[in-house]
Amino acid sequence: MANKKTTGKIGVTTENIFPVIKQFLYSDHEIFLRELVANAVDATRKMEAVASSGEFKGELGGLQVRVELDESKKTLKITDSGIGMTADEVNKYINQIAFSSAGEFLEKYKDEMGSIIGHFGLGFYSAFMVAEKVTIETLSYKDGAKAVKWSCDGSPEFSMTELSREERGTTVTLYLDKDGAEEYGTKGRISQLLSKYCKFMPVPVVFGKKTEYKDGKSVETDEDNVINNVEPLWAKTPSDLAEKDYLDFYKALYPMEDDPMFWIHLNVDYPFNLTGVLYFPKIKERMAIDKNKIQLFCNQMFVTDHVDNIVPDFLTLLHGVIDSPDIPLNVSRSYLQSDANVKKISTYITKKVADRLEEIFSGQREAYEQKWDNIKLFIEYGMLSDEKFCERALKFALLKNTDGKYFPLEDYRKAIEGEQTDKDGNVVYIYATDTEEQYSKIAAAKALGYDVLMMDCELDSHFVNLLEQKVDKTRFARVDSDAVGNLVPKGEKIKPEMSEDDRKKLDELFKSVLPEGNDYMVEPEDLGEEAAPVLITQSEFMRRWREMSALGGGMNFYGEMPRSYQIKVNMDNPLIKRIWEDRDNPGDLLRQVTDLALLSNGLLKGKALSDFIHRSEDLLSKE
Ligand code: ADP
Repeated sequence: MANKKTTGKIGVTTENIFPVIKQFLYSDHEIFLRELVANAVDATRKMEAVASSGEFKGELGGLQVRVELDESKKTLKITDSGIGMTADEVNKYINQIAFSSAGEFLEKYKDEMGSIIGHFGLGFYSAFMVAEKVTIETLSYKDGAKAVKWSCDGSPEFSMTELSREERGTTVTLYLDKDGAEEYGTKGRISQLLSKYCKFMPVPVVFGKKTEYKDGKSVETDEDNVINNVEPLWAKTPSDLAEKDYLDFYKALYPMEDDPMFWIHLNVDYPFNLTGVLYFPKIKERMAIDKNKIQLFCNQMFVTDHVDNIVPDFLTLLHGVIDSPDIPLNVSRSYLQSDANVKKISTYITKKVADRLEEIFSGQREAYEQKWDNIKLFIEYGMLSDEKFCERALKFALLKNTDGKYFPLEDYRKAIEGEQTDKDGNVVYIYATDTEEQYSKIAAAKALGYDVLMMDCELDSHFVNLLEQKVDKTRFARVDSDAVGNLVPKGEKIKPEMSEDDRKKLDELFKSVLPEGNDYMVEPEDLGEEAAPVLITQSEFMRRWREMSALGGGMNFYGEMPRSYQIKVNMDNPLIKRIWEDRDNPGDLLRQVTDLALLSNGLLKGKALSDFIHRSEDLLSKE
């Protein structure tokens, strides 16, 4: 090819591929820089490999990748001292092969392009998303190689000429598109892209010079500005790392977050390759957790921060980094889930997370208990959504009671089964959701020798259901779901004897003074002379369904139903006896005892509450 200029057509399957690139890849134009820097990094590493094999005897020199922007000329250069290419190689890798598979891919996935492009490395040709002309100047490391210059203005036509170039390696120059790519012609934007995509690439990437403050302004120094950390934490050996290293790395990734609770260093090379560090974040606001905090890398090159479909849903609550060359990036997101490697990776991560939790549970119980309130949501979510994780977590999940004590599931059962086994052999777990609102009922249950759990997490109504399924002979009852004495029924309930007519009368009597808008079931009970005259309870079953429906999105049958309450009238109580005797004209007493019961359940509001206060004052002044 002595001094001859060759021209030709780039071997792509779709004739006019460039408009296609620009059109479909619009939203993710910025990845071009990652692709070009990644190519430069690859070429550099190949050079290192060639040198260490002894095949190359020359001077290796500095092996940096340089990114240079000329803001006035609007050119961006990416230069490496890698293996370079001979004219034949440019022909083979750039002119013929490079884009053929990408062309087919584009055709096939046109519609999905928007969502998957972040995952798909378009390689060298992505330069044309932002440039109207691209040149490659390159000199191979091979003995006697001649430098070549390749040039293409965005049509499928290219030209190739010989070039005088002394330095081994490649310079790719982008003449930025004046129509639509202006943003890439600024230092700020390029800095931002390098920091997003290249921060952990394994070869130093230099962009301009370091600056320092002198006399109140920022001036350039002579020192190269290396924008990356070539050996990030996850690529190091765990045994070489101290706690501080993990905390520092976390701060570098998430400067705004509190320190994490703990972390897991992932490191596996068979049957797939995966490294990474996952952190359990400190949760500030339980339901407002940002799910897109795990960053996915491929050989230290940033790919995406949307890892759903790659890790199980509950793990997306974690923060950190995963690096794996074995996650297929050039497939659609929906396909990812069914990919065998991705499945294995996801199973592996779940297992590692369970291992780590179990390790802390067994080895550092006190620290684990202290962190429990913070990791509870995560663990319950995992148990509810992932069968395998659930089996493991049954061992290290904790229950917390209203005195603030923590128990593993098995220990708790042992502690309560003596007092809290009902007549059918079920162990009844009594729980509260609000210590203020349910104060008197919690106290009453404790007075009977029962323990009361605290279940105030958003997922607890689901979690309670799950435990009932997973742990044999288990029943959960909220402390206000029945009269305290009935929470753990030890024998058949004895109901007061009452005729149908009397029952009807009792029903009418109380319904006449209960607020509208709810459903009530009025039931006579014999709860003893000392017990309150009227008790209001909510059926465990109905309440739980309501709560679960509300969490699951609202608009369904149970979520829409009026609340239903049981009104238990204690026929043993002297006040009720009086009311019952005067049942044709019960007067204020009926209203007063009912309002008191409503009041203790937080159900007396507005005018009804103010009427109650006036009536109470009247009654007191009559005494
Ligand atoms: P990919 O990197 O996925 O193979 P590209 O289109 O980015 O696809 O590049 C095609 C080929 O061109 C590369 O595999 C490599 O052989 C060659 N190449 C690209 N950039 C460089 C470079 N800076 N130095 C040496 N070879 C390069």
